[in-house]
Amino acid sequence: MTRILIADDIATNLYLLESILKGNGFEVTTAKNGREALEIARKSPPDLIITDILMPVMDGFELCRLWRADEHLKNIPFIVYTATYTDPKDEQFVRKLGADRFIVKPVKPDLLVQEIRSVLLESKDKDGVAKGTGPEDTTGILQEYNEVLFRKLEKKVMQLEEEIVVRKEAEQQREAVIKELKLKNAELARFTYTVSHELKSPLITIQGFAGLIEEEMAKGEENPELKNHVRRITSAVDTLDTLLSDLLSLSRAGKSINTPKPVNFGSLVTESLDLYSRVLAENRIRVEVDPEFPRVNADPARIREVLANLIENAIKYRGDRPDPVIKIGVETGGDEPVFFVADNGIGIEPRYLERVFNLFEKLDGTTEGTGIGLAIVQRIIEAHGGRVWAESEGEGKGTTFRFTLPGAV
Ligand code: ATP
Ligand code: MG
Repeated sequence: MTRILIADDIATNLYLLESILKGNGFEVTTAKNGREALEIARKSPPDLIITDILMPVMDGFELCRLWRADEHLKNIPFIVYTATYTDPKDEQFVRKLGADRFIVKPVKPDLLVQEIRSVLLESKDKDGVAKGTGPEDTTGILQEYNEVLFRKLEKKVMQLEEEIVVRKEAEQQREAVIKELKLKNAELARFTYTVSHELKSPLITIQGFAGLIEEEMAKGEENPELKNHVRRITSAVDTLDTLLSDLLSLSRAGKSINTPKPVNFGSLVTESLDLYSRVLAENRIRVEVDPEFPRVNADPARIREVLANLIENAIKYRGDRPDPVIKIGVETGGDEPVFFVADNGIGIEPRYLERVFNLFEKLDGTTEGTGIGLAIVQRIIEAHGGRVWAESEGEGKGTTFRFTLPGAV
């Protein structure tokens, strides 16, 4: 039986190769590195050796050099089977050392066996003919060996450097994510605090007046104040109800916009204004709407919500001037259309212009409402991929809310 010696430092590679060869009727001996292979071969020379190059203790180059220099081994066929040394110069060098084949891993088992058989045949043909005495020019070989190793090291260093860059980038990304998470966490903590605070105050009102009613009723006397107490409870319950539905709407605002579709922005304006037609008429508020609007790519229900919030604010913060006006329109001069809802009401001090979009942010605590409206507006616009901002020259100078919607043409 033909006996093959295989050398590889990786156990699975050895096992795989051994199975393939045994399956094809060869007898197999294994070695974990060049030195072990050489010792085994010297004790009992095989018919052929297949070796990996990159191995500890003694690598495949050195093994090949010593093999070809060994009187008893030099005529035994030598196959190099490698995954790491794949450069044509590596092959050249290994050939120069006297290897019969240079096979790059992985190769299909049947091809590998075919190669082995052909190498065995070739060596039989040459039987009796001395297979070279191994390379004589040892300094030349050593120099080349150094060069091959050097190239290998250079490649490895380059790979490592690339890896370091990739890792650094990943690290930076990770830090950015952590930072963002921390910010979000802080925002969430603030949010929870404010929500509990906001929910608590109407509850305290309810508790207080319910207690008073109970006391009064225990006295069994008719008390005209009772009606008042009940009215306050109802009003506090209303506040709670609004707060909760606003919060619900906020939690939905950024998350669920339906797939945007092309809609006429003008119709959305008309429909939103309709909701306020009575208040507008009662308060003699003049409404001026641009005659034409572009079509937008939007979730109509959500954009109506935006417009409703802005219109409601324009009404609520109109102040006490005799000629309140609300203008709704679009500017198409720039890169993209900019929609606006403008009023000539109480205005906003420039330093508060950004703050008004914060959750529960109310510049005047005495007005009705929870300070959620603009936070909802911002989330809806941003969920559409647009921007929203406020402009005002200050107190009494009116306010303009502007926003963009991508896809508007
Ligand atoms: P909600 O809309 O939840 O009922 P709100 O109107 O107080 O309550 P936002 O719509 O978020 O809350 O507005 C936040 C704050 O910004 C308001 O309380 C008000 O101080 C200021 N503000 C909003 N719109 C205007 C406006 N058109 N003119 C002047 N100030 C405004
Ligand atoms: Mg509002």
